[in-house]
Amino acid sequence: MIYIIGSGIAGLSAAISLKMSNYPVTVITKRVQGGSSYESRGGIAAATAPNDSPELHAQDTIAVGDGLCDVKSVDYFTREALEAIETLEKWGFEFDKDLRLEAGHSRRRVHHRMDSTGMFLTNFLLKLATKLGINIVEDRVMALKVRGNVVKGFITTGGVSIDDADSVILATGGYAYLWSYTSNPRDNTGDGVALAFRAGAVVGDLEFVQFHPTVTVIDGESFLLTETLRGEGAVLINDKGERFAFKYHEKGELAPRDVLSRAIYNEYRLGRRVYMDLKPIDNFEIKFPSVNEFLRRHGLTRNDLIPVVPGAHYSIGGVRVNIRGESTIRGLYAIGEVANTGLHGANRLASNSLLEALVMGINMPLHIGEDWEGPDLNDGEVLNVKLPSGSREMGLEEIRRLNWDYLGIIRDGDELSRLISIYEDVYLTGIDEWSNAALISYLTAKAALMRKESRGSHYRADYPSRDDARFRRRIYFRMMDHD
Ligand SMILES: Cc1cc2nc3c(=O)[nH]c(=O)nc-3n(C[C@H](O)[C@H](O)[C@H](O)COP(=O)(O)OP(=O)(O)OC[C@H]3O[C@@H](n4cnc5c(N)ncnc54)[C@H](O)[C@@H]3O)c2cc1C
Repeated sequence: MIYIIGSGIAGLSAAISLKMSNYPVTVITKRVQGGSSYESRGGIAAATAPNDSPELHAQDTIAVGDGLCDVKSVDYFTREALEAIETLEKWGFEFDKDLRLEAGHSRRRVHHRMDSTGMFLTNFLLKLATKLGINIVEDRVMALKVRGNVVKGFITTGGVSIDDADSVILATGGYAYLWSYTSNPRDNTGDGVALAFRAGAVVGDLEFVQFHPTVTVIDGESFLLTETLRGEGAVLINDKGERFAFKYHEKGELAPRDVLSRAIYNEYRLGRRVYMDLKPIDNFEIKFPSVNEFLRRHGLTRNDLIPVVPGAHYSIGGVRVNIRGESTIRGLYAIGEVANTGLHGANRLASNSLLEALVMGINMPLHIGEDWEGPDLNDGEVLNVKLPSGSREMGLEEIRRLNWDYLGIIRDGDELSRLISIYEDVYLTGIDEWSNAALISYLTAKAALMRKESRGSHYRADYPSRDDARFRRRIYFRMMDHD
């Protein structure tokens, strides 16, 4: 039996594709409609337009990735994108006819269904999975079983214990919920990365966490104001009425996400407030029904200025794998946001993550059971980490606040060292969600401290420039005492 952990777009597309190729699969998931997939709005990037090509898509991906993209991965995913879209359509999913433009893309190539692509697609995949008779069980995997560097199974909080898995596919999403301000749902606490690390897998690029510039929090409800709003004309102004984005980047509101996030963060530090003005968008209600519905729920309309803050949005780091999803542990795959393939480099191009999740999921039958290669680690340093023996318990809210304060949009060596010493007192070797969250936060802070430069989504106030001579390398971690 092949076990897939997680029911986002990566997990569901893998389950469907494998089942259609007659592999026996079971999906275990914390929450069936949990994870980022269900919340994702903008869409999926693929160069299907006549004036576009995978090469142009690759160029844009590499430009945003700021010197750390794995060119082989970029080439693979931008080419496979076309077939992934075709496969979804063959399975019966309908995209809207127009393609949308998002920041960093030189062409209109974002395939979408209104402004709730993820919800429509997840529901479609769930229906198809049910039709195919795929067993989906709600439970939380809390540890992997690995012997002699081969995955054998796992245990769950619900009491399931598996010892004879043919393969285990982690599709558990990322860890961007671990910051106070976030676009992510509660599920994304980094479980999968922590499970794999504790089992001896190599993890990498953890310091790269992308902040989305425009999250709004109204009456306590967080809501992502998607990039396509700005692509379709929305502008940002501060409380002095200034359209400040051009002060920070020539592309203004369509600047790369990290630049715009820091610009907004900086405006707040200058004592300003920041708003999105939706009035310039034509046919707003038709193009963005879910944003319109959110505003309506809170007694607002498109004519109101909507307050925005940057929030943690996407974790680039994860379980290091090759393009087939193979980790450093035989039989253990990672796909989607839990995986680190090098596609995104130091910064993710918008709408490339659903693409990565889909291509890895859909192509799973081509790779499973092939000769095991595992990832190439020659593009970085693998550091063996001995976990500290702290015993303090720590709640998720405290972890999120600490990360926002010390491991946020603008980082600093002294603050990172302080954060690391706080986490050294915490019990990092447990099986609870909070222990996983603290472990991932500890490793992320360590990597952020080691990367003494600013690159892509990682910005150090004490090292504000990119340093290719020393840091055009990845930082990988492996737990000590593993074969
Ligand atoms: C608001 C928002 C908007 C976005 N918009 C876009 C967009 O327009 N385009 C784009 O490309 N990307 C977008 N992204 C990013 C994208 O949605 C994610 O990268 C992608 O959906 C990840 O898919 P996934 O299947 O890997 O993980 P997820 O969809 O996050 O699913 C993870 C699954 O794993 C389960 N799980 C976690 N831990 C365990 C465990 N221990 N045991 C069992 N199950 C577990 C969860 O319950 C969940 O089912 C957006 C993200 C957000 C938050």
